Amino acid sequence: MSRTRRVNCIIPPHLLDKLLESGNSGVRKAALDTLLTTARLRGERGVRASFVGAASAGNGRRTVFDCQQGRFLPFAALAQSEDGPASADESVKRAFDGLGTTRDFYRSVLQRNSVDDRGMRLDGYVHFDVQYNNAFWDGRQMVFGDGDESMFTDFTGSLDVIAHELTHAVTEFTAGLAYHNQSGALNESMSDVFGSLVKQWSMKQSAETADWLIGSDIFTPGIDADALRSMKAPGHAYDNDLFGKDPQPAHMRHFVHLPDTEREDFGGVHINSGIPNKAFYLTATNIGGFAWEAPGLIWYESLKASSVDTQFQGFADTTHQKAEELYGADSTEQLAVLAAWQEVGIRISGVPAGVARARGRAGRNGARGRSAGQDGGAGREDGLVALNRQVEALAAQVAGLSKAVAALQRERVTHG
Ligand SMILES: [Zn+2]
Repeated sequence: MSRTRRVNCIIPPHLLDKLLESGNSGVRKAALDTLLTTARLRGERGVRASFVGAASAGNGRRTVFDCQQGRFLPFAALAQSEDGPASADESVKRAFDGLGTTRDFYRSVLQRNSVDDRGMRLDGYVHFDVQYNNAFWDGRQMVFGDGDESMFTDFTGSLDVIAHELTHAVTEFTAGLAYHNQSGALNESMSDVFGSLVKQWSMKQSAETADWLIGSDIFTPGIDADALRSMKAPGHAYDNDLFGKDPQPAHMRHFVHLPDTEREDFGGVHINSGIPNKAFYLTATNIGGFAWEAPGLIWYESLKASSVDTQFQGFADTTHQKAEELYGADSTEQLAVLAAWQEVGIRISGVPAGVARARGRAGRNGARGRSAGQDGGAGREDGLVALNRQVEALAAQVAGLSKAVAALQRERVTHG
């Protein structure tokens, strides 16, 4: 058990730090208050976190409490539970519904019984502190600030934020990815992936129609920003005077090396998550259709098969392996995974470069050909062209294999 508490916040430290440089004293004060409160929470000993899971099993029963602008959770008042009447408070209702939608997604799509798969109860606390510009999961419950209403709105309004935070709990109960450097960026990416999938699932959006944005609802209309992060285009979620430019990379060649300190986001866990985020987005759009189906399942099984110190390479290899176990070797799904990681600069271990390139082409074109057949959308690649490219790719593979066989034969002659 760690002595300090792990507090997973939706607003990363680099963004609040940037606000401290603002010329507006109100903006600086709100950012400073949020940073100080979060630091105080982290400093509290993680005693209660050790009882996680033992709290009580109950198929993810929800309870929402009202902090009434206080910062001490035990003083919060019960506002809505599974048995009682609905609250008249909009924040309470939204938090209750968001916890429920996330729980239902995990139950019906991934057959997971609440975040711990043992029915852990889901407690939410709303109206935390005054103008608190954040929302977090502290190992036991989800806490929402109201936002200052000048930059940030009430955090209960974002389903992807709620699902992002609860997925930190799922990760904690499965791989336990350490919150530092690459494993930490994977931890953040898992929360973005499933955060986005819960939103897509609730709105019945396909990979093609989804916005792939994280936190698109947290800014007030006066703020010129699409969202906190974009999985489709990491590095392009915002670019304004207040927040600066979105620092996320979308390729390994732009991996950001930062010190493993709290101030530097534990090695940029909210920054380098752009790379695996983009790999998931590419996998989902290569396969086409609903991203929570094959892509989500491949990622979920890979998360469960990962461990505390899994790095990008190890996770990529696992997704390739899981795609094969679930859908077969060289299936559309496996080829899509291979091509996606290659596009962000990660080559799957054991797949020779030439074959990877050929397979990558087959995967992308094959997948596009399939989705064109599924929904017959105009402007999609012609099926015959796709088929031709697949044949081309297969020919390249056969050529590669013949070379390998010839090499083996030569070896047998030499050593035999
Ligand atoms: Zn997070």
